[in-house]
Amino acid sequence: MIRTGWRWATICVLAAAAVAGVVLALSPRLQFLLGGAFVNLGFRLQDHLHTYDLEHEHATPEAIWQALLRQNEMAASVRDLFPRSTEHPVVAILACMDARIDTAELVGDTRRYYYIVRTAGSLLSPAEQEMLELAVLNGVRVIVLTTHTDCAAEKVAASPEKRAQFPEIVALLDQREKLIAEFKARPIIRDALARGELQIHRARIDTATDRVLADEH
Ligand SMILES: [Zn+2]
Repeated sequence: MIRTGWRWATICVLAAAAVAGVVLALSPRLQFLLGGAFVNLGFRLQDHLHTYDLEHEHATPEAIWQALLRQNEMAASVRDLFPRSTEHPVVAILACMDARIDTAELVGDTRRYYYIVRTAGSLLSPAEQEMLELAVLNGVRVIVLTTHTDCAAEKVAASPEKRAQFPEIVALLDQREKLIAEFKARPIIRDALARGELQIHRARIDTATDRVLADEH
């Protein structure tokens, strides 16, 4: 009886593996989604470990640095087994440096498929403008300029005391619209937009849900 059960279990597993193998071989889209599901499963397993990660509650800077090195060694050893493929991003995203914003959760796996530029308050200073222009020269066809709800940098700009403490950030935040207009007017960007080879979108991220809200701009 037990032997028959094992036999059927083995047959079922082999059949499922064969079907999965055929489906995966036929559908890159399915492989992409399945990989995303596994990545998300990993995130969910780690979500409640925020006090464990790097043991940062009571750790010294040196201990955190050593933990980073150990984690890098572990990650690099996995990379040794699975050599990196080369991707050519067609999307560039400007996002706030706020750690709650996870670009991978916004649009899926962002390790190599997107150029990500992160600054406090999603500031677009001339340096970031050059970075995004470089991305366009490297083949990017869609740029997404984001902001997000509950942004600490925006709160700084709204606070008379903190404005004096962070004058550079505030100055750039106050000029956001002007800087975006300047970016769109850069010859390479302006020409790519005019030829229909580039789109620039504005989006506001709901920090609590990662959902991208339509921007009024
Ligand atoms: Zn922010």
